[in-house]
Formats: sequence, structure tokens, C-alpha cells
Amino acid sequence: MKRIDAYLSSLGYCSRSEAKKFLKMNDVCINQSRVFNTSIKANHSEISVNGEKLDDEKLLILLHKPDGYICSHNDAGKLIYSLLPQRWQNRNPKISTIGRLDIDTTGAILLTDDGELNHKLSSPKNSVPKIYEANLEKPLTQDIIDIFSSGEMILKGEEKALKPAKLDIVNPNLARLEIVEGKYHQVKRMFAYVGNKVLKLHRVSFYDFKVDDLKEGEYKLISI
Ligand code: URA
Repeated sequence: MKRIDAYLSSLGYCSRSEAKKFLKMNDVCINQSRVFNTSIKANHSEISVNGEKLDDEKLLILLHKPDGYICSHNDAGKLIYSLLPQRWQNRNPKISTIGRLDIDTTGAILLTDDGELNHKLSSPKNSVPKIYEANLEKPLTQDIIDIFSSGEMILKGEEKALKPAKLDIVNPNLARLEIVEGKYHQVKRMFAYVGNKVLKLHRVSFYDFKVDDLKEGEYKLISI
């Protein structure tokens, strides 16, 4: 239970100090009765703003990350969060990405304000599958398939071997790779290990979520 002004501000609708004005100017209803008074307590069930149900659930968002955006809350460049509606950007707790993609990687990234879900989907213990397409500088050779699936690859600077990864050679310079971890620059480092270089990296899917039907920069809500 929260005061309605605190509640609206935590969902990013307005600041607490703007709440009185906001309540006056917008048709905010609790259980279908219009409210103006900030001392009213909100219990999530039936709150609407201007006739629309408040998006007061935890959010899980699938975004098609464009090249050039950074998965960080504090950076000088273009932040991935700027692609979301301002109201979601204002949420408290904050929406964060589940894992990260490099600035030049495109494709599927999930974002949520649900800390528990974020932990579950990013924990290495849960082996969540991620599929990438990598354009490579040099032609791929069949022997790499076994190296990647061996479970014995130890990347530079790591102590433990990577879990087995599944590599498909789509064409000599294009690989489709499924991994179940999310180590820093993992895909680029895996190809560097076999003497190759990733020129372009795209994540096709994260867990069951594919970006097929989304253009770069577009997002959709996933029900949880
Ligand atoms: N592996 C990488 O090297 N970069 C990414 O962005 C994701 C996985």
C-alpha cells in the first residue's frame, strides 16, 4: 500500500511534487471513482488514468537493439533506455537490461524492472540459451564446430572452460552460434580463440524471445 502520489511517481507518471497538479488535470480513478486527494492509498487493483488502466505491473520488454546504443544507465553516448517511453524510463525501481550487448551488437535484448526475474534470466546457473549470427573476417572451417562444442575451451583471462556451444556454418563467413552463458564479449572472444574475427554480431534470440517481427529500435511488452 502506497500513497497515490508516491505510487504514480514510482510508475514514472509524474514526480511526487507534480502529483497534486497531475491528479487535478488527469482523470485518475480508483475503483472507478475519480480521486484528487493525495492522501488516498492505492492498492494496485483498479487504477485508471484518463480511462486507461494504469500499467502498474512489472514490465518485461523485448527490444531490437540498434547498432550504436549502450546497455548502461550512466554513459556519455546513446543509451538503450532512451528508446523506451519516458514514463518507463522514470520508473522506480529502474528498468535494466537482462545482461548486456556490446555497443556494436544488434538484436534481442530483454529489459525489466523485476529484479528477481532479471537475476533468474541472467544467472549462469540457469543456462539460458542465446542465439547469435556472426559475420566473420575469415572463412569458417568444420573443426571449429567440435572446438566450440567440446566444453573444454578456456578463454584468455578465464579459469573455467566454457559450456558446450552449438555452431552452425550458414555460409563460409556466416555462423549461427548458440551459447548458454553471457561472459564479457564472449562470442567475439570465442572466434578470436580460433584465430578469426567477428565483423558484425546480431543476437537472433534470448531464451524463447526472437526479434524477427521487430525493426531495429522497436520493442514489445511480454506478458509475465
Ligand atoms: N558476445 C559478444 O562478444 N558481444 C555481445 O554483444 C554479446 C555476446
